[in-house]
Amino acid sequence: MGLKVYVDGEYYEKADAKISVFDHGLLYGDGVFEGIRSYGGKVFRLEEHIKRLYNSAKAIMLKIPVAPEGMKKIVTDTLALNELSDAYIRLLVTRGCGTLGLDINKCPSPSVICITDSIALYPREFYENGLKVITVSTRRIGLGTLFPQVKSLNYLNNILAKIEAMNAGVPEAIMLNANGAVAECTGDNIFIVKAGALITPDVNSGILEGITRAAVIELAGREGIPVEERTVSRYEVFTADECFLTGTAAEVVPVVNVDCRPIGDGKPGPVTRTLLKKFQELVRTEGA
Ligand code: PMP
Repeated sequence: MGLKVYVDGEYYEKADAKISVFDHGLLYGDGVFEGIRSYGGKVFRLEEHIKRLYNSAKAIMLKIPVAPEGMKKIVTDTLALNELSDAYIRLLVTRGCGTLGLDINKCPSPSVICITDSIALYPREFYENGLKVITVSTRRIGLGTLFPQVKSLNYLNNILAKIEAMNAGVPEAIMLNANGAVAECTGDNIFIVKAGALITPDVNSGILEGITRAAVIELAGREGIPVEERTVSRYEVFTADECFLTGTAAEVVPVVNVDCRPIGDGKPGPVTRTLLKKFQELVRTEGA
């Protein structure tokens, strides 16, 4: 049996799971999504992902045609049908089919899609040796443009930043906000460690409020590590003791070099390693 994909109440074989070329998700990137993971058959923080999905939808005036409880069931049913235990889940709601104009009122039926697949893990080496990243010239969309908190289907801003990173031969990019402060990476939040404290850009720096970020902040609290959410400058990143990224796919990944400046001693630091270990314990012990 091949992989089954949920589309608007039906399950389709991967090759048959399709949406219309008139869907505004395709025409305009008009829609919202979530990237979720399951560990040992348990979905990590499903409640939080569902909440963020509905908040993203609310902000763009997209009415999701399923209640949150029903959406959770779609996720767990799709996982179960595909007999996946450690999986990556992509949940999407598109504006649906409409005319070739921007009017959302011409799109009466938003589409709900749930894709579950085996997770493509980051190379081991990323965790053992840490990442080299650069700051790119593409700025993160600001609070005054498209809300950075909305996980919309319009990822072109992040894609442009990722292209810059790849062109420079590194896997991730640090994106600054319109004020030149550090916002986040193309698919991950960023943290630094300084004098034993964890520092991460606050929501007003123009970030997506990561579920992994929130979990790491909680874990730091449990470990007695102080956490500051505030404006972060590039200078602070360059001179930090440690740096790491957080995200559903990446979990907690060390950064050892930023714009050709080694971070700390150029190796993954002890706070990063502790938080990665604690995070990996958390995902296995906690489930939706
Ligand atoms: N920032 C951006 C822009 C992202 O796309 C993601 C991945 N969803 C994150 C941060 C990390 O969020 P999460 O921990 O919820 O995966």
